[in-house]
Amino acid sequence: MNKVLIIDDDPLYRKVIGEILEKHGWLVLDADEGEAGVELARTHHPKVVLCDLLMPRSNGFQVCRTLRGDTSLRGTRIIVTSGRQFESDRQAAFAAGADQYLVKPIDINELLKSISAPTPQKGNTTLATSTPSKVLATGTQVRFWGVRGSIPTPGPGTVRYGGNTSCVEVRTAGRILILDAGTGLRLLGQQLAAEFDGQPLDLTLLLTHTHWDHIQGLPFFLPVYQPESRLRILGYEGARLGLDNVLTSQMESPYFPVNLREVPANIQIEELKDLSFSIGDLRVEAWFANHPGICVGYRLFTPGGSVVFFPDNESHAGHRHSPPRAATDAAQVFATQEEQRLANFLRGADLLIMDAQYNREEYQKRIGWGHGCLDDVVNLAILAEVKRLYLFHHDPDHDDATIDAMVARARAIVLERKASLHIEGASEGATIQLP
Ligand SMILES: [Zn+2]
Ligand SMILES: [Zn+2]
Repeated sequence: MNKVLIIDDDPLYRKVIGEILEKHGWLVLDADEGEAGVELARTHHPKVVLCDLLMPRSNGFQVCRTLRGDTSLRGTRIIVTSGRQFESDRQAAFAAGADQYLVKPIDINELLKSISAPTPQKGNTTLATSTPSKVLATGTQVRFWGVRGSIPTPGPGTVRYGGNTSCVEVRTAGRILILDAGTGLRLLGQQLAAEFDGQPLDLTLLLTHTHWDHIQGLPFFLPVYQPESRLRILGYEGARLGLDNVLTSQMESPYFPVNLREVPANIQIEELKDLSFSIGDLRVEAWFANHPGICVGYRLFTPGGSVVFFPDNESHAGHRHSPPRAATDAAQVFATQEEQRLANFLRGADLLIMDAQYNREEYQKRIGWGHGCLDDVVNLAILAEVKRLYLFHHDPDHDDATIDAMVARARAIVLERKASLHIEGASEGATIQLP
């Protein structure tokens, strides 16, 4: 007897459709969510899977992709059912491996015709996500897509350095890594779509933390709407909710029309536990920042040299400023030790991208806000024997001329200290090639 598997979280729908199909000679199996459905499909090898699009745990796109990735289920016909008429959903379902897309309420005659149709043999070849070969250039390339802190700042005063928030792309060892998902991520998505012309992408996004200026670009990142692309998101758990929860909640219905769990691309959100880990053969180390909540900086040990991304951080050395912060001797010792440990983390980096939001005068009124003072950052980079420093997380109130002045001030400190540190202000679109 031919088997049909109905995966749907609506019990009444499962019952009604199940009874009709039984009357037409089908043996009916059913599951109320995607993961259980996939298990049943793997055990029973049904001829047809009728799968709802919006379900808890694993949505219809994910079920299609998983079933199509299983060669033992090549003969299974997948029909996606949905209460939604969006053409983009239909296209995405086909791209994920569906054979048919039926809109609810289901026309029974159409369903009976569809489940009896022969199934074209589908392999999993179209679903393989690998980074297109163009990426495999030699060396390491770092490109700034968003350099601003706190909030996007478009306007005539910011055209040179740029107004988008934190997002940096690193291409190295055949991979595309993305550091933070601020509003600059939208531009990166457009670039990737144009450059790779719709080919599936396999991307890794490292999040330093989930403040708005570091995640707001995610809903506007084109590759998440590309069914065959894969985006792995790595980060540390925030204060109250898991990383998955924080990222999906910014796309819930009062805030955004498409839920992160419904997007066509294969998105994996993974919480990091250790401060040292690998992405393929690329070694990465993380260090906690002095910034509200859980926030880190990352050091990537690329074949072209080591790149450190530390977008939000305040020096522990705030007490050194005048007037000095009221700090006990013990607190000052602690702060000095913390600063030394951070310097050890940064030691000898070829490229350091670091929060230098305030100049010295501004910083006096913002001690304890969790952002960098230019003088402290330059001194730290000199202490850590960094080779190149890019000032980052520009203040929303700083126009291009102000940032120019900060770069000049930073270079003057290097001269005064007779150090050899190259300094630039990070600007949107700038690319750095490491040998
Ligand atoms: Zn920030
Ligand atoms: Zn922050």
